[in-house]
Amino acid sequence: MPVYSNYVSHLECGLTGESDYKPATLHGLSRAGRPLLVRYDLAAMRGKLDRDEIWARPGGFWKWRELLPVRNSENVIALGEDDTPLIACAALASNLGVSGEILIKDEGRLPTGSFKARGLALAVSMAKELGLKRLAMPTNGNAGSAMAAYATRAGMESYIFCPDDTPDVNVQEIALQGGKVWRVNGLINDCGKIVGEGKDAMGWFDLSTLKEPYRIEGKKTMGLELVAQLGWDVPDVIFYPTGGGTGLIGMWKAFAEMEALGWIGAKRPRMVAVQATGCAPIVKAYEDGERHAALWQDAHTCASGIRVPVAVGDFLILDAVRDSGGFAIAVDDDKIEAARMEIGAREGVLVCPEGAATYAAYKQALSDGRVGAGDRVVLFNCGNGLKYDMPDIAASLNRHEPINYNDLKK
Ligand SMILES: *Cc1c(COP(=O)(O)O)cnc(C)c1O
Repeated sequence: MPVYSNYVSHLECGLTGESDYKPATLHGLSRAGRPLLVRYDLAAMRGKLDRDEIWARPGGFWKWRELLPVRNSENVIALGEDDTPLIACAALASNLGVSGEILIKDEGRLPTGSFKARGLALAVSMAKELGLKRLAMPTNGNAGSAMAAYATRAGMESYIFCPDDTPDVNVQEIALQGGKVWRVNGLINDCGKIVGEGKDAMGWFDLSTLKEPYRIEGKKTMGLELVAQLGWDVPDVIFYPTGGGTGLIGMWKAFAEMEALGWIGAKRPRMVAVQATGCAPIVKAYEDGERHAALWQDAHTCASGIRVPVAVGDFLILDAVRDSGGFAIAVDDDKIEAARMEIGAREGVLVCPEGAATYAAYKQALSDGRVGAGDRVVLFNCGNGLKYDMPDIAASLNRHEPINYNDLKK
């Protein structure tokens, strides 16, 4: 069996640093009830890996295999992954009168139409490697879709619970990709409770965000890929739509690993956690100077992917934001909708509401001076815009009446 060079040395608790967690073993949360982080023997890897050789490989995020936990290539579950484009938005920049670059990392091009593919491909492949047959998770939509697709392909069962107002397209795609899915009258944390409490009766493994260690490793590849795309440089600022925060935590981890490998220097981007004003637990904790975030009551926002009232990795998000000199910022839903229209109209790029939130946050931060007009910023569009409700702005024409073509220009 083809076995990859595997450099995982151990796992450690993200909160306490306790490091006696063995690799190639099934893990959930740490003994402290916090996320586990995968550690590699970076000293042994340094000098052995050629970053350009790795970057030139096909296979999208699977190309970074030495920095991933899967040992046996037969456990890699693939659906035709590819690198996602970094789209320069010169029209947005010139309209705002900024001299810096605005780049959209369009993650909607991945299998299942969101960056959840990165995390779940890794989590499901590791679940396969560790012999699991039945997986479960709460989801706001995209994670469930990605888990269903990869689990089905791996020959595993998937049980998925989502809030009953999750976009229909998410619920339907989950079912069509072989997942068993239920709409639940509650929020994602209520769905999480069902998964946790059903463990004994169902014998399933809980693949909730950050409750197992491998999803972060998949999301980390966004940081590796982004840096490679920028010619082994980091941008000045990253705006990341933050729910559970896996991607922000993962990218922060990726930058540290790349520096330890000698691939990049000490410069880091400022990490900005973007939330909606209707659900902003991380922003509140950031502003209050706290390291942990309290449960957000009555969470609501049109950006369902970031409607996450409580995050088990809250301190990891807040640490990265603070250590990087970044900040956490909340934007209103009407600003999110307007940003979505503006990006589409000016750049021809259809983003999801969560992606639009990052642009709304960028504009807000630009006007209050928290980012500079010369900064090179990366906005994460995490899901395919086609998955979401769109405003109905098309007009109709009666072909049985004379058409005044001049009117069409209005
Ligand atoms: C999951 C999701 C997010 C939040 O990502 P995290 O890394 O969990 O914070 C944002 N937008 C969309 C579309 C998502 O599916």
